[in-house]
Amino acid sequence: MKLTLKIKLLPTDEQANLLLETMKEANTVCSAISDVAWQEKIFNNFKLHHRTYHAYKATFNLSSQMLIRQIAKVADAYKLDKKTKRTFKPLGSIAYDSRIMTYKPNNIVSLWCIDGRQKINFVCHNPDYIPYIKGEADLVYKKGKFYLFQTVDVPEEDVEDVEEFVGCDFGLTDIVVTSDGVKHSADGLNKYREHRQKVRSSIQAKADTSKRSTKRNCRKLSKRLQGKERTHTQIVNHTIAKSIVQSAKEQGKGIAIEDLTGIRFTSKKRNKKFRTKLGKWNFSMLRQYIEYKALLNGVKCIAVAPAYTSQTCSSCNHIGKRTNKVFKCTNTNCKVDSIDADFNAAQNISLLGASVNTPEKSTMYCSLHSLSGLKPIPSL
Ligand SMILES: [Zn+2]
Repeated sequence: MKLTLKIKLLPTDEQANLLLETMKEANTVCSAISDVAWQEKIFNNFKLHHRTYHAYKATFNLSSQMLIRQIAKVADAYKLDKKTKRTFKPLGSIAYDSRIMTYKPNNIVSLWCIDGRQKINFVCHNPDYIPYIKGEADLVYKKGKFYLFQTVDVPEEDVEDVEEFVGCDFGLTDIVVTSDGVKHSADGLNKYREHRQKVRSSIQAKADTSKRSTKRNCRKLSKRLQGKERTHTQIVNHTIAKSIVQSAKEQGKGIAIEDLTGIRFTSKKRNKKFRTKLGKWNFSMLRQYIEYKALLNGVKCIAVAPAYTSQTCSSCNHIGKRTNKVFKCTNTNCKVDSIDADFNAAQNISLLGASVNTPEKSTMYCSLHSLSGLKPIPSL
């Protein structure tokens, strides 16, 4: 599986200057090539190479491979549309491949720079992936620091066939409740988000009543806060996904999650639960993390249709009543009276996972799906 590894470079001051100069030179050449492409309407990589390579090899301070990469970058930029002239920011990211970049032992990477190759120290928070480095990296300069966004190709473990699944119900008060009874609470998160929301509104209020220069500063500030919130969301989702995958692996189970894709666009017609669910938390990110971590660990992951998972009794399959956090079964012969609604849903998702996996073994899948085909979804 291909992933992107974030590597932070630790250049000396001299190396940092060389990296900056290299980025500037590469992006200047890109803008120059783009001028030619735009004026002469040459957008094809091969033709553009033919037209610009020799002239720019003589006038710019770039190695052959570096120049070839920049020509390809410009051609690539015009692929999407040929009606806008492309310009390149002086410190925009530049691509490195194995001809101009070599990883050495002890966290050192050798990068081509305008003054020759530089051996630069780096740190990486996922050192396990370093042996799987393969292909290109983007050199990015952000807030005074240099990063390599490096492609890695991590081998997937063979997925073991399993009979049981950990069902995961995505929710509001708890981000995830599993059929094992584990809750990943959203309390702390909601508080964090409320606080952030307040901060954002106060910035907005200030921006609305201020002069233009203050407005601009407010915009910058709120953009930075957005970035912070995103990082926070990523960390929380990573932690939850890791815990779910580890637990499933230890128990020799697979993972069953709700397939919420496609609901976003039709949400007005759907019931309130999904609408609010999708609005409050980045579940698609969480799902993505669960899926890729499962793949890396050889844990089977199945997405099931979410219809009726919260209204069906996980014990007898009858449709019951969900009031807030409590599910009540209406079948008088059923031993379930009232249980935690999210836990009940997680149980259903777990059973659905098992029946999707081996349809002949269970009637659950059929009964739920025939139901959802017959009746409109009742509102909660
Ligand atoms: Zn029941």
